[in-house]
Amino acid sequence: MADVILEKVYKRYGKVTAVTDFNLHIHDREFMVFVGPSGCGKSTTLRMIAGLEDISDGTLRIGDRVMNDVPPKDRDIAMVFQNYALYPHMNVYENMAFGLRLRKTPKAEIDKRVREAAKILQIEHLLDRKPKELSGGQRQRVALGRAIVREPKVFLMDEPLSNLDAKLRVEMRSQISKLHRRLGATVIYVTHDQVEAMTMGTRIVVMRDGVIQQVDTPLNLYDNPKNKFVAGFIGSPSMNFVTATVQGGRFTGQGFAILPAGGLAQSLRGYEGKQVWMGIRPEHIGMKGYTAIPEDATNVIRATVEVVEPLGAQTDVIVDLGGQTLIAKVDGHAPVRPGDQVELLVDRSRLYAFDMQ
Ligand code: ADP
Repeated sequence: MADVILEKVYKRYGKVTAVTDFNLHIHDREFMVFVGPSGCGKSTTLRMIAGLEDISDGTLRIGDRVMNDVPPKDRDIAMVFQNYALYPHMNVYENMAFGLRLRKTPKAEIDKRVREAAKILQIEHLLDRKPKELSGGQRQRVALGRAIVREPKVFLMDEPLSNLDAKLRVEMRSQISKLHRRLGATVIYVTHDQVEAMTMGTRIVVMRDGVIQQVDTPLNLYDNPKNKFVAGFIGSPSMNFVTATVQGGRFTGQGFAILPAGGLAQSLRGYEGKQVWMGIRPEHIGMKGYTAIPEDATNVIRATVEVVEPLGAQTDVIVDLGGQTLIAKVDGHAPVRPGDQVELLVDRSRLYAFDMQ
C-alpha cells in the first residue's frame, strides 16, 4: 500500500509561509495532480514529500510510516524533474542503471529491470547513446526510465513535460497516463498547466498562495468549482465573470436579464438586490441561429462584437457588454464581424454566482 497522507503540513522559509495547513489523503495507485499558478507552493509540497525539504509543521505518512525524518533514499519514491538531470558522460543504459548500482542491486537484476523499462518506454534502440545524442522527448523517456527501474511505490513528477514542444507534450501526456496504468503505482504530478492537470489526473489539487482551494476529480472541478479562483483557473478559455445585480431572481445588467435554471435559481434568492459575479463559461454561450441552446427571453445577452478569432471548428467571439468583456465560443461558421450587434444565448443551467469580494 502506498497511500500518501499529509496532515496539517506547513512550510516556512523565514517569514514566508510557502505552504499552509495542507491536508490531503492520496490513495494507493491514484494519479494526483497539484496545479496552480507559479509560486503557489506545488513544488515545495512535492519536495517535502520527496524529503528534499524539511517539513516545518505537520505529519507526512507514506504507507503507514511517518516519513518526516526519513532520508529521501529510504522513502520508496522516485522523482522525475523537468530538466531530466541525466549524466552527460553516461550512456542511456548506464544512466538508467546508476541508481540501482548505488544500491548494490545484483548485476543481472539491474540488466533485467533496465531492459524491461526500455521496452515499456520504447527506447531499447537508444541504450548505447549519450544524452546529447537524444531528442528532448527521448531524454524525457530516459528520465522516466531511471525512475521506473527503481520500482518505487510512489512517483513524484515536477513539471516533467515543460521543456518539450507542444506536440510532444501532448504525446508524452498520454504516455505517462498509460505508464501509470501499467505500473500500478501512486503518482503525484506537479504542473501549472490546467489542461495537463485535467487530462492526466484522477484527482486534482488546486492551490493558491500555499493554500488548497479544492481537491476533486477533473469533471467535478469543472462543473462545481468551489470559488471564483478555481472557476477561473480550470477551463480554457477561462470562465467569464460579469458584474450583475440580482433582481427578481435574475442576473441583470446592461444587455441582459438572465434567469438561472437548476439549483442556482434557489441559491440566488439569498443575493436578492446585491451585486455578484455572474460566471459563465465561453462554451456555454452560443449565437442566435448557430447554437443548440434553445432561445427564450431569459437567456439572451445583447452585446457588441469587438474581436473575432476563428479557430476552424469554433470561433472565439469577444464582445463588449457595457464596458465588460465576455468571450463566447460559437459555431465556426457564424458570420460575425467586429462592430456587429449580436444576441448571444446562454445555457441557463450552466451559470454560476460568486461573491463580489
Ligand atoms: P510553485 O512550485 O507552485 O511554483 P514553489 O513551491 O516553488 O511554487 O514556491 C512557493 C513559495 O515559496 C514561493 O513564494 C517561493 O518564492 C517560496 N520559496 C520556494 N523556495 C524557497 C526558498 N528556498 N527560500 C525562500 N522561499 C522559497
